[in-house]
Amino acid sequence: MKVFSRLISCFRKMPGVGPKQAERFALYVARASESEMSDLFAAMQEVRRQVKPCPRCFNYSDGELCEICSDTQRIQDTICVVESVQDLEAIEKTGFYKGLYHVLGGVFSPAAGLDGGSLRLKELIERVEKSPVKEIIIATNPSAEGETTASYIKTLLEEKAEKISRIAFGVPLGGDINYMDELTLKHSLQGRRKF
Ligand SMILES: [Zn+2]
Repeated sequence: MKVFSRLISCFRKMPGVGPKQAERFALYVARASESEMSDLFAAMQEVRRQVKPCPRCFNYSDGELCEICSDTQRIQDTICVVESVQDLEAIEKTGFYKGLYHVLGGVFSPAAGLDGGSLRLKELIERVEKSPVKEIIIATNPSAEGETTASYIKTLLEEKAEKISRIAFGVPLGGDINYMDELTLKHSLQGRRKF
């Protein structure tokens, strides 16, 4: 059925959704009641309308600064640099890290045609220049692109931050912060080394 396949291919675009799961979502839509569907539409519209990137760290936010940036209990002079909001959330789940974040919005990737221009590097430099930073923890993924990006950030900030560290991964290359279990990720953060 054409309409059904169209909906399935829409769901397939969502991160982490495979063909079976996309089909289950489409079946749900086909069978759901009117009120379930209007709830879903309303919730999606609200997210689209209200959720904006935090002007400081680029985490999702529904106001000015995000919950993490506006939490004065958090360590203000430590910034953990991550590729995506999903990685930020994975680190938050460990409950180990109490500093602030900076979401890059990707990594250097020649395949994707990125020259680094779309990454929030300028904003990161501005942040570090504006208020003194004790430690920058680079938590890009252990991929070739993640490592290149980490090294580049190091050269950019070397003179500006007291300490730059890189989170320690059990495996040399490959893997994704987003898919690591909480304990492994906590150990990676704990075992971070000077970079
Ligand atoms: Zn923020």
